[in-house]
Amino acid sequence: MKTLFERSVPGRHCTVLPACDVPVLKPSETREKALRLPELSETDISRHYTSLAKQTFGVNDGFYPLGSCTMKYNPKVNEKAAQLEGFTDVHPLQDAQGSLELLKTAEKYLCEITGMDEMTFQPAAGAHGELTGLMLIKRYHELNGHTLRNKIIVPDSAHGTNPASSAMCGFTVVNIPSAPDGCVDLEKLREAAGEDTAGLMLTNPNTLGIFDKNIKAITDIVHEAGGLCYYDGANLNAVMGIARPGDMGFDCVHLNLHKSFSTPHGGGGPGSGPVGCKSFLADYLPGEKVVEENGVYRWQSRGENSIGCVRGFHGNFLVVVKAFAYLTTLGKQGVPEVAKNAVLNANYIKHLLEGTWQVARPGICMHEFVLTLEELKKETGVSAMDVAKALQDYGIHPPTMYFPLNVHEALMIEPTETESKETLEEAAAAFMDIWKTIQENPESLHDTPHHSYIKRPDEVTAARHPVLRDPLND
Ligand SMILES: *Cc1c(COP(=O)(O)O)cnc(C)c1O
Repeated sequence: MKTLFERSVPGRHCTVLPACDVPVLKPSETREKALRLPELSETDISRHYTSLAKQTFGVNDGFYPLGSCTMKYNPKVNEKAAQLEGFTDVHPLQDAQGSLELLKTAEKYLCEITGMDEMTFQPAAGAHGELTGLMLIKRYHELNGHTLRNKIIVPDSAHGTNPASSAMCGFTVVNIPSAPDGCVDLEKLREAAGEDTAGLMLTNPNTLGIFDKNIKAITDIVHEAGGLCYYDGANLNAVMGIARPGDMGFDCVHLNLHKSFSTPHGGGGPGSGPVGCKSFLADYLPGEKVVEENGVYRWQSRGENSIGCVRGFHGNFLVVVKAFAYLTTLGKQGVPEVAKNAVLNANYIKHLLEGTWQVARPGICMHEFVLTLEELKKETGVSAMDVAKALQDYGIHPPTMYFPLNVHEALMIEPTETESKETLEEAAAAFMDIWKTIQENPESLHDTPHHSYIKRPDEVTAARHPVLRDPLND
């Protein structure tokens, strides 16, 4: 497909600018070379973007079972709420009572869901929330004179951002392997926890879709060693309204409003990764907090122990508006329904695939599960990548591939609660069809997908050497 620059025809345009009525710049103030902008008609531009839009794939196009990411359908009405002028046209320094009340109420709801006491909406994403939460832990140890505590324990079933955030915050990462059942190995944890432990970061349910059965023992071991416990709540879709990190012994948690709470994600944002904590950490939270007195809301400083600011004002406010609209629609009954249906859907599709496809950790899963294609690859040469690509020909977005790292040839599937029984059955039928093709003609899988615009891009080169500007414009 041609770029807008390649379609450009000198002299073609779709607007007529009024005559310039401001003083013209002096030659010394202007560019040496005229900026090369594409010259196009409105039809050219409209067709270009419509054609691009048709080539992408989103939750509105079809099943999108991307593991660990909760790519669910987000009701359009929440977008409408976030587009209300009263929310979009307000300046963060205005004491807009409705916006402050919304922030305070959203904080209350999300604290109730997580079992935390206070929350900040500053972080713009999950990983940003992790860094913020770790900064709270760091500040706690600093202020209490725990100078030796510089290590964060991260089980190998954690999301990749956990060790990355710990390192970014200046901690040394201590990786501990999982037990054969996919849960944290308590013996290994006991060995790792000690006087140098600042804390533990746990993704729960973990990336294998397992809710750690020893969760309370885990937080006890860390607390007894003098460390704090951080809960990666990106997988909250599986447990919200049912189990609370605060009750499991965690001291702080981040949520991904752009996963569990109705903001579409993918394509780079905007997101929101609020961080909640127990009251003993609350003074360290970043930014100001909303307080209410006699029905009047206002901002209040958190005091000198705050870690400062991790983002401007109160983060991506309109994402919080969507989460608030979503929570008010669902209510107390709806929130646990989300979690139950997400778990039910994952178990249903797992059940339909099991027996033919090999599940990495058999048994009941939470909201996601992982297939391993290790044996299949040995026998037929067909890899997880080949199958993920083949699914595109069935109108299904590929699942997460080659993750988690402790499963070989992994395909990680998270259907979410917003898919119907029929969709799950159609997806299972696609998997079965692919299985049949593998038995009959495994070679044909190597150049899948056969019907998409782009076949097998060189992902490494695309990531390492992205071409983000028109080379002719340099
Ligand atoms: C997505 C995810 C993150 C990171 O969140 P971002 O918003 O992408 O930065 C962290 N942990 C888990 C388990 C996740 O699924």
